[in-house]
Amino acid sequence: MKAQFTKSKKLYKIAQGLMPGGVNSPVRSFNAVGGSPVFISKAKGAYTYDEDGNKYIDYMSSWGPLILGHSDVDVVRAIKQAAERGTSYGAPCADEVVMAKLIVKSFPGIDMVRMTNSGTEATMSAVRLARAYTNRDYIVKFEGCYHGHADYLLVQAGSGATTFGTPSSPGVPKSFTDKTLLAKYNDIESVEKLFKKYGDKIATVILEPVAANMGVIPPQKDFLENLRKITKKNGALLIFDEVITGFRLSMGGAQKYFGVIPDITCLGKIIGGGLPVGAFGASRKIMSIVAPLGPMYQAGTLSGNPLAMAAGLATLDKLNKNSNYTKLRDLTNSLVGGLEDIIRKLEIKASINSLESMFTMFFTEPAPHDYKTALASDTKKYSKFFENLLSTGIMFPPSQFEAVFLSLSHTEKDVDKTLNALYKSLKDL
Ligand SMILES: *Cc1c(COP(=O)(O)O)cnc(C)c1O
Repeated sequence: MKAQFTKSKKLYKIAQGLMPGGVNSPVRSFNAVGGSPVFISKAKGAYTYDEDGNKYIDYMSSWGPLILGHSDVDVVRAIKQAAERGTSYGAPCADEVVMAKLIVKSFPGIDMVRMTNSGTEATMSAVRLARAYTNRDYIVKFEGCYHGHADYLLVQAGSGATTFGTPSSPGVPKSFTDKTLLAKYNDIESVEKLFKKYGDKIATVILEPVAANMGVIPPQKDFLENLRKITKKNGALLIFDEVITGFRLSMGGAQKYFGVIPDITCLGKIIGGGLPVGAFGASRKIMSIVAPLGPMYQAGTLSGNPLAMAAGLATLDKLNKNSNYTKLRDLTNSLVGGLEDIIRKLEIKASINSLESMFTMFFTEPAPHDYKTALASDTKKYSKFFENLLSTGIMFPPSQFEAVFLSLSHTEKDVDKTLNALYKSLKDL
């Protein structure tokens, strides 16, 4: 039976008259893959259901946060109980302390933390902190890394930006990005060159320790270590944007996973358990300049929101049990292994980058290691592949340059079903 999308299409039409592109975040529009987006009416575990009653095995996991799956019973209960006690106080509450304690305990690079409402706020504040602490202005970011949509970070910024061919956006004055220097991911020489030229003017190097917004691209051997060395040598701070990798790769994120400790860490996504959240943290010395302890201003009416704290804590509590990371990895390996077999069997020009519970299949070979090689992917092929998958009830991200995220709700049975669908979708290309 072919899936019908009547209600979604109708909603999309109305939405387009009311919201730019009919959405509140660009990549949801399916612009990158063509067609019109499905409107989700409910979600449970590994599954989402659209307005037309179609059911999907969901591999977007809300772009990363839902590592337990959708509407987990314990998370929902925690949110309900928190809501009964009030939705926001504008005053501190105990769960903020519990959350801070958990983050500090888990992340070697964090002694103190400040909660925000989004990953964008976290990276924006982290860069301000680095600039304030070093009293320097320049920052280094990498082509294809996304750090939210703050003006000076919206330069060659991966997925959304890549997808829409707007590496930097109109409305960002040239002077705002003058101090943003671009380096190439996995290319330490490109960073060395910048330090040679700008040396003691560089406040910070910011990166996704595992790039996941140009598709998944893991750091090559010694890349993170060398970044650690070069920043230290030049008196610049190293920022790991762990908005995706934090609690995804391990309880201590990428820094614990790879054993490279940044000066400042940004978090988001998983720590909010599906509610809006972000955080940045660093050593006590660095965080001591953040207001009200120090002069660097940073604030938020809803920061540390009790509902977000409750959802996040319930998520992290459940995640940190029963060798869940091993489960996630094993399940992902079944799916990736199966997909690799299919690619080989059908002799398709494709490759997979995979790490723990996230991966991207690129329609290019060999597997990309930076932005340029990621862009070599055949995005038309991806669009067709995506459409084929969707019609058989599998929801992959609606862009080549995003990550597939598995959750603890996915089962071997889901993986088997998905592999059947993947085979068909790729065969029918
Ligand atoms: C999602 C993301 C952000 C932005 O977080 P928002 O909550 O969407 O503002 C920042 N950095 C990375 C690496 C991300 O994946």
